[in-house]
Amino acid sequence: MHPAIVAAALDALAVLVPVSCAGCGADDRGLCSACRSQLVPTLVEQRLDGGLSVVSALGYDGVARRSILTLKEQGRADLARPLGRLLAVAVAAAVDTFAPAATSVAIEVAIVPASGRSYRRRGYDPVRLLARRAGVRIARVGLRAGRGPATQKTLDREGRMANLVGSMRATRRLSGRRFLLLDDVVTTGSTLVEAARALRSAGAEVVGCVTLAYTPRRLLGLSTETAQRP
Ligand SMILES: [Zn+2]
Repeated sequence: MHPAIVAAALDALAVLVPVSCAGCGADDRGLCSACRSQLVPTLVEQRLDGGLSVVSALGYDGVARRSILTLKEQGRADLARPLGRLLAVAVAAAVDTFAPAATSVAIEVAIVPASGRSYRRRGYDPVRLLARRAGVRIARVGLRAGRGPATQKTLDREGRMANLVGSMRATRRLSGRRFLLLDDVVTTGSTLVEAARALRSAGAEVVGCVTLAYTPRRLLGLSTETAQRP
Protein backbone atom coordinates (compact mmCIF):
# COMPACT_ATOMS: atom_id res chain seq x y z
CA MET A 1 0.00 0.00 0.00
CA HIS A 2 1.17 3.54 -0.70
CA PRO A 3 2.72 5.13 2.44
CA ALA A 4 0.42 8.16 2.17
CA ILE A 5 -2.62 5.91 2.24
CA VAL A 6 -1.31 4.02 5.25
CA ALA A 7 -0.63 7.31 7.05
CA ALA A 8 -4.11 8.61 6.27
CA ALA A 9 -5.66 5.37 7.48
CA LEU A 10 -3.70 5.52 10.73
CA ASP A 11 -4.74 9.16 11.22
CA ALA A 12 -8.36 8.20 10.72
CA LEU A 13 -8.02 5.27 13.10
CA ALA A 14 -6.66 7.53 15.86
CA VAL A 15 -9.89 9.53 15.66
CA LEU A 16 -12.10 6.46 15.91
CA VAL A 17 -10.24 4.49 18.55
CA PRO A 18 -9.76 6.12 21.95
CA VAL A 19 -6.05 6.62 22.54
CA SER A 20 -4.01 7.46 25.58
CA CYS A 21 -1.49 10.25 25.80
CA ALA A 22 1.85 9.12 24.39
CA GLY A 23 3.68 11.25 26.95
CA CYS A 24 2.05 10.21 30.24
CA GLY A 25 -0.52 7.52 29.42
CA ALA A 26 -3.53 9.58 30.53
CA ASP A 27 -6.81 8.90 28.73
CA ASP A 28 -6.81 11.71 26.27
CA ARG A 29 -6.14 12.53 22.65
CA GLY A 30 -2.75 11.57 21.26
CA LEU A 31 -0.90 14.01 23.45
CA CYS A 32 -2.45 15.75 26.48
CA SER A 33 -2.01 19.49 26.87
CA ALA A 34 0.45 19.13 29.77
CA CYS A 35 2.72 16.90 27.69
CA ARG A 36 2.23 19.01 24.59
CA SER A 37 3.48 22.03 26.53
CA GLN A 38 6.74 20.17 27.23
CA LEU A 39 7.46 19.75 23.54
CA VAL A 40 9.27 23.03 23.12
CA PRO A 41 12.12 23.38 20.63
CA THR A 42 15.50 23.96 22.26
CA LEU A 43 17.62 24.03 19.12
CA VAL A 44 20.99 22.38 19.46
CA GLU A 45 23.82 22.13 16.94
CA GLN A 46 26.42 19.35 17.16
CA ARG A 47 29.41 18.46 15.05
CA LEU A 48 29.61 14.88 13.83
CA ASP A 49 32.62 12.81 12.80
CA GLY A 50 34.05 14.12 9.56
CA GLY A 51 33.00 17.70 10.24
CA LEU A 52 29.33 17.43 9.32
CA SER A 53 27.01 19.41 11.63
CA VAL A 54 23.51 18.52 12.75
CA VAL A 55 20.80 20.81 14.05
CA SER A 56 18.17 19.17 16.28
CA ALA A 57 14.92 20.49 17.68
CA LEU A 58 15.10 18.97 21.15
CA GLY A 59 16.58 16.32 23.44
CA TYR A 60 15.52 12.70 22.98
CA ASP A 61 14.20 12.15 26.48
CA GLY A 62 11.01 12.55 28.49
CA VAL A 63 7.85 13.30 26.53
CA ALA A 64 9.75 13.76 23.27
CA ARG A 65 11.34 10.34 23.49
CA ARG A 66 8.11 8.58 24.45
CA SER A 67 6.19 10.34 21.67
CA ILE A 68 8.75 9.46 18.99
CA LEU A 69 8.90 5.85 20.16
CA THR A 70 5.10 5.60 20.19
CA LEU A 71 4.94 7.00 16.67
CA LYS A 72 7.57 4.55 15.44
CA GLU A 73 6.76 1.40 17.37
CA GLN A 74 2.98 1.62 17.68
CA GLY A 75 2.19 3.28 14.39
CA ARG A 76 0.56 6.22 16.14
CA ALA A 77 0.64 8.51 13.12
CA ASP A 78 -1.45 11.14 14.96
CA LEU A 79 1.77 12.08 16.79
CA ALA A 80 3.47 13.08 13.55
CA ARG A 81 1.65 16.39 13.51
CA PRO A 82 2.87 17.86 16.86
CA LEU A 83 6.31 16.34 16.31
CA GLY A 84 6.38 17.58 12.73
CA ARG A 85 5.86 21.13 13.97
CA LEU A 86 9.04 20.82 16.03
CA LEU A 87 10.92 19.33 13.11
CA ALA A 88 9.83 22.28 10.95
CA VAL A 89 11.52 24.66 13.41
CA ALA A 90 14.75 22.67 13.21
CA VAL A 91 14.64 22.52 9.39
CA ALA A 92 14.21 26.29 9.14
CA ALA A 93 17.15 26.80 11.54
CA ALA A 94 19.30 24.29 9.65
CA VAL A 95 18.66 25.89 6.27
CA ASP A 96 19.53 29.22 7.87
CA THR A 97 22.74 27.80 9.35
CA PHE A 98 23.99 25.76 6.42
CA ALA A 99 22.92 27.83 3.39
CA PRO A 100 26.10 29.18 1.86
CA ALA A 101 25.82 32.88 1.12
CA ALA A 102 25.80 34.10 -2.47
CA THR A 103 24.87 30.95 -4.29
CA SER A 104 22.09 30.10 -6.66
CA VAL A 105 21.95 26.37 -5.94
CA ALA A 106 18.90 25.63 -3.81
CA ILE A 107 19.16 23.37 -0.78
CA GLU A 108 17.06 20.23 -1.14
CA VAL A 109 16.10 17.91 1.69
CA ALA A 110 16.95 14.22 1.50
CA ILE A 111 15.77 11.77 4.14
CA VAL A 112 17.76 8.92 5.61
CA PRO A 113 16.10 5.75 4.33
CA ALA A 114 14.51 3.24 6.66
CA SER A 115 16.10 -0.18 6.42
CA GLY A 116 14.05 -2.61 4.38
CA ARG A 117 13.43 -4.65 7.50
CA SER A 118 11.94 -1.84 9.62
CA TYR A 119 9.88 -0.55 6.69
CA ARG A 120 8.35 -3.98 6.15
CA ARG A 121 7.65 -4.33 9.86
CA ARG A 122 5.91 -0.96 10.17
CA GLY A 123 4.41 -0.65 6.71
CA TYR A 124 5.35 3.01 6.56
CA ASP A 125 8.37 5.21 7.06
CA PRO A 126 8.06 7.42 10.18
CA VAL A 127 10.80 9.80 9.02
CA ARG A 128 9.02 10.43 5.73
CA LEU A 129 5.76 10.99 7.60
CA LEU A 130 7.40 13.44 10.03
CA ALA A 131 8.98 15.34 7.16
CA ARG A 132 5.66 15.59 5.40
CA ARG A 133 3.94 16.85 8.54
CA ALA A 134 6.74 19.41 8.89
CA GLY A 135 5.83 20.69 5.43
CA VAL A 136 9.16 19.57 4.01
CA ARG A 137 9.41 18.67 0.34
CA ILE A 138 11.49 15.52 0.10
CA ALA A 139 13.90 15.20 -2.83
CA ARG A 140 14.06 11.91 -4.73
CA VAL A 141 17.65 10.80 -4.44
CA GLY A 142 17.27 7.05 -4.58
CA LEU A 143 19.10 6.58 -1.30
CA ARG A 144 18.96 2.91 -0.31
CA ALA A 145 19.88 1.24 2.94
CA GLY A 146 21.55 -2.00 2.01
CA ARG A 147 22.54 -4.68 4.48
CA GLY A 148 20.55 -3.79 7.56
CA PRO A 149 22.19 -2.33 10.63
CA ALA A 150 20.18 -4.82 12.65
CA THR A 151 22.65 -5.22 15.48
CA GLN A 152 23.44 -1.51 15.57
CA LYS A 153 22.01 -0.98 19.04
CA THR A 154 24.47 -3.29 20.72
CA LEU A 155 27.55 -1.75 19.11
CA ASP A 156 29.70 1.08 20.42
CA ARG A 157 30.42 4.23 18.45
CA GLU A 158 33.32 2.83 16.40
CA GLY A 159 31.56 -0.46 15.90
CA ARG A 160 28.45 1.28 14.58
CA MET A 161 30.42 3.27 12.06
CA ALA A 162 32.42 0.26 10.88
CA ASN A 163 29.18 -1.71 10.53
CA LEU A 164 27.58 1.05 8.47
CA VAL A 165 30.30 2.23 6.10
CA GLY A 166 29.32 1.29 2.57
CA SER A 167 25.85 0.13 3.65
CA MET A 168 23.98 2.89 1.77
CA ARG A 169 24.04 3.97 -1.81
CA ALA A 170 22.32 6.56 -3.97
CA THR A 171 20.86 5.09 -7.14
CA ARG A 172 20.76 8.43 -8.98
CA ARG A 173 23.47 10.77 -10.20
CA LEU A 174 23.27 13.88 -8.04
CA SER A 175 26.02 16.11 -9.43
CA GLY A 176 25.48 19.83 -8.91
CA ARG A 177 22.81 19.33 -6.28
CA ARG A 178 23.03 20.40 -2.66
CA PHE A 179 21.36 18.62 0.25
CA LEU A 180 20.33 18.86 3.84
CA LEU A 181 20.00 15.35 5.34
CA LEU A 182 17.02 14.68 7.56
CA ASP A 183 16.46 11.95 10.15
CA ASP A 184 14.31 11.49 13.25
CA VAL A 185 16.93 11.06 15.98
CA VAL A 186 20.70 11.53 16.02
CA THR A 187 22.57 9.32 18.47
CA THR A 188 26.20 8.78 17.51
CA GLY A 189 25.59 10.32 14.08
CA SER A 190 26.99 7.29 12.26
CA THR A 191 23.84 6.83 10.16
CA LEU A 192 23.90 10.46 9.02
CA VAL A 193 27.61 10.26 8.25
CA GLU A 194 27.04 7.14 6.12
CA ALA A 195 24.07 8.71 4.29
CA ALA A 196 26.17 11.81 3.57
CA ARG A 197 28.97 9.61 2.24
CA ALA A 198 26.52 7.86 -0.11
CA LEU A 199 25.10 11.16 -1.42
CA ARG A 200 28.57 12.59 -1.95
CA SER A 201 29.76 9.55 -3.82
CA ALA A 202 26.83 10.14 -6.20
CA GLY A 203 28.18 13.63 -6.83
CA ALA A 204 26.06 15.66 -4.39
CA GLU A 205 27.12 18.27 -1.90
CA VAL A 206 25.85 17.76 1.67
CA VAL A 207 25.73 21.02 3.63
CA GLY A 208 24.54 19.62 6.95
CA CYS A 209 21.97 17.54 8.77
CA VAL A 210 18.78 18.10 10.69
CA THR A 211 16.95 15.83 13.10
CA LEU A 212 13.87 16.10 15.23
CA ALA A 213 15.75 15.01 18.36
CA TYR A 214 19.25 14.33 19.62
CA THR A 215 20.34 11.87 22.29
CA PRO A 216 21.88 13.99 25.05
CA ARG A 217 25.58 13.22 25.28
CA ARG A 218 25.32 12.46 28.98
CA LEU A 219 23.16 9.49 27.99
CA LEU A 220 25.90 8.39 25.59
CA GLY A 221 28.56 8.63 28.28
CA LEU A 222 30.27 11.48 26.42
CA SER A 223 31.45 14.58 28.20
CA THR A 224 31.56 17.07 25.32
CA GLU A 225 28.90 19.70 25.60
CA THR A 226 26.53 20.42 22.77
CA ALA A 227 26.28 24.00 21.57
CA GLN A 228 22.99 25.52 22.59
CA ARG A 229 21.83 27.85 19.89
CA PRO A 230 20.59 31.30 20.84
ZN1 LIG B 1 0.27 13.49 28.75
